[in-house]
Amino acid sequence: MAKNKKNDKMDRLVSLCKRRGYIFQSSEIYGGLNSCWDYGPLGAELKRNIKTSWWEAMTARRDDIEGLDAAILMHPAVWKTSGHIDEFTDPLVDCKTCQARFRAEDLAENKNPEQCPACGNKTLTEARQFNLMFKTFMGPVADDNAAVYLRPETAQGIYVNFLNVKNASRQKIPFGIAQIGKAFRNEITPGNFIFRTREFEQMEMQYFIHPSEDEKWFEYWKEQRWNWYMELGINKDKLRWHEHGPDDLAHYAKAAYDIEYEFPFGWKELEGVHNRTDFDLSRHQEATGKDMGYIDERFKEKFVPYIIETSAGCDRTLLTVLVDAYVEDDSRGDKSTVLKLSPKVAPIKAAVFPLVKKDGMPEIAEKLYHDLKKRFKVFYDAGGSVGRRYARMDEAGTPFCITIDGQTKEDDTVTIRDRDSMEQTRYKLAEVADFLAEKVE
Ligand code: ATP
Repeated sequence: MAKNKKNDKMDRLVSLCKRRGYIFQSSEIYGGLNSCWDYGPLGAELKRNIKTSWWEAMTARRDDIEGLDAAILMHPAVWKTSGHIDEFTDPLVDCKTCQARFRAEDLAENKNPEQCPACGNKTLTEARQFNLMFKTFMGPVADDNAAVYLRPETAQGIYVNFLNVKNASRQKIPFGIAQIGKAFRNEITPGNFIFRTREFEQMEMQYFIHPSEDEKWFEYWKEQRWNWYMELGINKDKLRWHEHGPDDLAHYAKAAYDIEYEFPFGWKELEGVHNRTDFDLSRHQEATGKDMGYIDERFKEKFVPYIIETSAGCDRTLLTVLVDAYVEDDSRGDKSTVLKLSPKVAPIKAAVFPLVKKDGMPEIAEKLYHDLKKRFKVFYDAGGSVGRRYARMDEAGTPFCITIDGQTKEDDTVTIRDRDSMEQTRYKLAEVADFLAEKVE
């Protein structure tokens, strides 16, 4: 029962996302493409704000991290070296009766692992390894010599550019390279809306360090990444660390922690912070013969840098932000929904309303709207009762509504309504831009 209620909440969030223009099913008019989603007007803004926040925290505000935007298609040998061609697999099980497919790992958790969870028959095949990389062909001939892959992670683009970035930027260790970009995985069981999809965006940063300082930097990056979710306004009681134990720690990693969020469908990974040792650069050095060694003035020795990686999913962060902000508040009227998004990431920062469409109010409201639009994403709405307009903005997650009313003409003041407290306070028209700047920038 409780579980259904939770799933209902996800269903209602999915329908709000469609109604308000956050997220649509990909190719919906053709029946949709499984596990692919399109971001609508508000979703595109929210995603851009999340990426900007990450980019500012991880490179723009720092002297020790450089940005990169590597190609999605890479030399296929990269994926051989990284281990993705041979090892980036999930064991897949089919049901011979109903053709449903499952990850063997998920079945193992069931009470009756030999039984198909979809049709109940005991007609499951043996597990076979299924590579999660999307394969395509470069050029006109579709044979194996022309095979290339859509990258399953952005990190390799950083490793293969380590020498380029180091030489061009003249950074000294410790320093990092940050990148935001698309990644593709042919997941066997995508689902939970945008939580697990086949095309998604990652926000990854690789920090290159001397091996003797790995524990210090690992702790440092754990703290920094946790704090970033606090900056996004995520409820800290819904976040926790999960340490990878000996069973789930990758063979090359010395330590790995995931930041998890409590979604309506359970605690799930949002981001990984990993100590990848010198595995990546050593492998690429071995495969290419390029010297990845670094001479450190402090340590007076040559070494292959260790890497502390922070690897976050942009779509998963966006889902977290939405789930965390979603509130059903009956005190505001029947079935009222509010998205209590942090003003820093909210797609629309403020809405401007004339109380009524007469008495000179629309003219003042339009002028304010055009002035604010130069600095902020704002929205003008003169349609329907002011209560309806507030409700629409609450659902869209807009933190402030500015109303021009009868008093405005007398004393140049407007009301600013706070989405969460619903309190209305009068401000001078000339103060509105500063008020917004303080709240949203
Ligand atoms: P999971 O165990 O959920 O498959 P993972 O451990 O394979 O994730 P990583 O390879 O560490 O994930 O990728 C880093 C981040 O990229 C994840 O924490 C997640 O936020 C995001 N990510 C990975 N796979 C997907 C996916 N299929 N859809 C959306 N985001 C993803």
